[in-house]
Amino acid sequence: MQNHHVILRSRPGVNSAPVDENFEYTECPYPEQLQKGEVLIKTLYLSVDPALRCRMNEDTGADYLTPWQIGKTIEGLLGMGVVVQSADDSFTEGDLVEGDLGWPWKQYFIYDNNSQRKWIRKGDRNLVGDRPSLYLSCFGLVGLTALLGVREKGHVTPGANQTCVISGAAGACGTLAGQIARLDGCSKIVGICGTNEKCNFLTAELGFDHAINYKTENVSSRLKECCPGGIDVYFDNVGGEISNTVIRQMNPNSHVILCGQISVYNKDVPYPPPLPEDIEQLLKAKNITRDRFLVLNYPEKFEAAIVQLVEWYMSGKLKVKETVTEGLENAGRAFVSMMNGGNIGKQIVHVSDI
Ligand code: NDP
Repeated sequence: MQNHHVILRSRPGVNSAPVDENFEYTECPYPEQLQKGEVLIKTLYLSVDPALRCRMNEDTGADYLTPWQIGKTIEGLLGMGVVVQSADDSFTEGDLVEGDLGWPWKQYFIYDNNSQRKWIRKGDRNLVGDRPSLYLSCFGLVGLTALLGVREKGHVTPGANQTCVISGAAGACGTLAGQIARLDGCSKIVGICGTNEKCNFLTAELGFDHAINYKTENVSSRLKECCPGGIDVYFDNVGGEISNTVIRQMNPNSHVILCGQISVYNKDVPYPPPLPEDIEQLLKAKNITRDRFLVLNYPEKFEAAIVQLVEWYMSGKLKVKETVTEGLENAGRAFVSMMNGGNIGKQIVHVSDI
């Protein structure tokens, strides 16, 4: 049997954008005989995520993330697969499985269920029907980030006529966060993103009230037009100048959900990067909260949050968009494309069929 994986060929450097050539698709051995407690898994879908960018550096800057090693299989985050063979009582051939924080960019691999960290779980075919990738685009860490970000840091109050602005609005977390802020009670949703196609998608398909193209429009004046009453909740996926511009128009006692800062991921700066002095002063003067949000800090809330996401999706209240790249050989390209704004919704890679 043939097997393939993607390895890290080179590092982009801490102050450069990743390129396709940093990755290499190559043959690798098909897993041998299973030991007791081991499960052979075929990858169906992989997720590519901004957080992986820091693993390309020798120093990831985060204590919970280790650097990738040159020449070794890329250890990704989220993945979906099917059990091909099992030597563990909890898994049977044909089981759908999903996992986070460690899915290798490999066609076939062995998962050791003896290990302390149980990072692969059985998926539910009834839940996802013919769309197993939903575990990557909504019923997993991405959906949890959007929902718990809004709920833990957004202070959304139904009936309070709040305006919510989202940056990185057309991406995986952004598309969900905007819809969730509305479902939870915000009266106006404004997205900021990088193309007109994305803007149209947000307003025409997801019901955002306005969308601003930060590459072609003046974000400050468009925000003034779209949010005449100021901004109450800001779901920040990007940081940098876009966020400074949003914060300048936030109301007293409003809230920033500090989800991510992708605009600096190709720069050698600490996370979260320091704010300009005038923005720091503004936060203090207006009593604007801006606490760092990390989804992994809320494991006890995951189960109920997934139930909520599934219910909204099933009832048609939450739309889930995916950009699917075909083939494991293109996983590196998909990651680079996502970092450059090539995706609408969740960027995933289709590796194999069930
Ligand atoms: P996305 O699907 O949003 O993809 C990334 C998007 O970022 C691109 O499509 C691009 O869209 C935008 N982008 C890239 N560079 C820039 C830039 N310089 N300025 C502005 N926008 C840029 O990714 P995710 O939804 O997976 O992640 C979104 C954010 O959430 C990231 O910052 C990520 O690190 C963070 N995150 C945080 C978690 C947490 O626990 N706090 C968990 C998961 C994710 P465009 O065309 O609009 O530029």
